[in-house]
Amino acid sequence: MKKQYAVECESKVASDCLRKGESFDNEEEAEHWVENECWIFSGEWYLCVECNQQIMLNISKLQTKKMN
Ligand SMILES: [Zn+2]
Repeated sequence: MKKQYAVECESKVASDCLRKGESFDNEEEAEHWVENECWIFSGEWYLCVECNQQIMLNISKLQTKKMN
């Protein structure tokens, strides 16, 4: 059986997090797939779109709290 590569979402904070990208025969294709899906690349790990939105939402909530 061939090894399959899939990029995993690093944070998995969102309830609708994909957790994993599609599986491919090589790492490059797996990374290409998540890039097409607009996942965020930090330099070391990937973050899916849903988690990125969740994190942005958490940050904006924190900022609102600080203002009050
Ligand atoms: Zn995620």
